[in-house]
Amino acid sequence: MRAWEKNIRRVDPYVPGEQPSGEKLIKLNTNENPYPPAPGVERALREMDYGRLRKYPDPAASVLTGCLAGYYGVGEDQVFVGVGSDDVLAMAFLAFFNSPKPILFPDVSYSFYKVWANLFGIPYEMPALDQEFRICPPDYYKENGGVVFPNPNAPTGLLLGLGEVEDIIRHNQDVVVVVDEAYIDFGGRSALALLNRYENLLVVQTFSKARSMAGLRIGFAIGNPRLIRALNDVKYSYNSYTMNMPSLVLGVESVKEERYFRDTVAKIVKTREQAKKRLCALGFTFPDSMSNFIFARHEKAAAPKLFEALKSRQIYVRYFAQPRLENYLRITVGTDEEMEELYHFLEGYLAY
Ligand SMILES: *Cc1c(COP(=O)(O)O)cnc(C)c1O
Repeated sequence: MRAWEKNIRRVDPYVPGEQPSGEKLIKLNTNENPYPPAPGVERALREMDYGRLRKYPDPAASVLTGCLAGYYGVGEDQVFVGVGSDDVLAMAFLAFFNSPKPILFPDVSYSFYKVWANLFGIPYEMPALDQEFRICPPDYYKENGGVVFPNPNAPTGLLLGLGEVEDIIRHNQDVVVVVDEAYIDFGGRSALALLNRYENLLVVQTFSKARSMAGLRIGFAIGNPRLIRALNDVKYSYNSYTMNMPSLVLGVESVKEERYFRDTVAKIVKTREQAKKRLCALGFTFPDSMSNFIFARHEKAAAPKLFEALKSRQIYVRYFAQPRLENYLRITVGTDEEMEELYHFLEGYLAY
């Protein structure tokens, strides 16, 4: 090892799902929305004033924070935006998880939490989900340096009711509790309803899933103005211009089209419920997902083999080679047509 190599930070990075290219492939591996962004987004993109790219964007991202504040009925000083919720969550880890006590997040959960904790030197503990993959709120009653969990959880898809979410927050009023609601629009009740009661609650959401805009990278957090100020202090200590101009403009356009948003989400929910029936009929078992993916296993089909077989037919799903997860595939809910092709393949595969 060369001398300078000793100074390189050793990290174990997050591994994102594959982004294969090709025309015919069916991409059910990264929980993207199969439908395009709202028509107004396309219009605004076509009419965009390229001259504005010459200038730095508004560092406060005010058009977007203002728009989200109006949409969710909160103050503008209660909204923070970032480059996808990954950026927002990373900033939240830096800003709020600064205690010598371990932060808590589920052992089976969004695998980025562990990566950020390691990168930032934050101690952590991972309470185990129960046999049915459920988060057990009492596991989060013990002393800690902060709490973060996705709701619905990933990759299980299971939703905690608002009462259970509140139970976790109520037992943790001396630390910041971050609820990662990347999938909340697919059937859950948001913890935003609890904001008035808990000043230590930060709700994080994204435009990547329900709003079909993963490629633009827009995420946001809503919480007490003191939390938002702390997030901004970290952001301005790191990179003042996280949000580019097109993202700000197109994000606002997306929020304006409520009808399209609701219709698109409803279509995915309908396809998901149909998928539960079809996969069940094929012999798969899975937790009852309230997200836009299904985490399924089959007694008679080993997940890694099925994963490869699907891939060879240009159907991409996600496989996690991890204890407790190694028999499961996470299947994003696509269009009805894509799902029909999936069922068709599975019928053939399972027939022999
Ligand atoms: C997809 C996802 C995110 C990150 O989404 P962004 O594209 O960075 O907004 C965060 N948390 C969970 C649980 C996710 O599934």
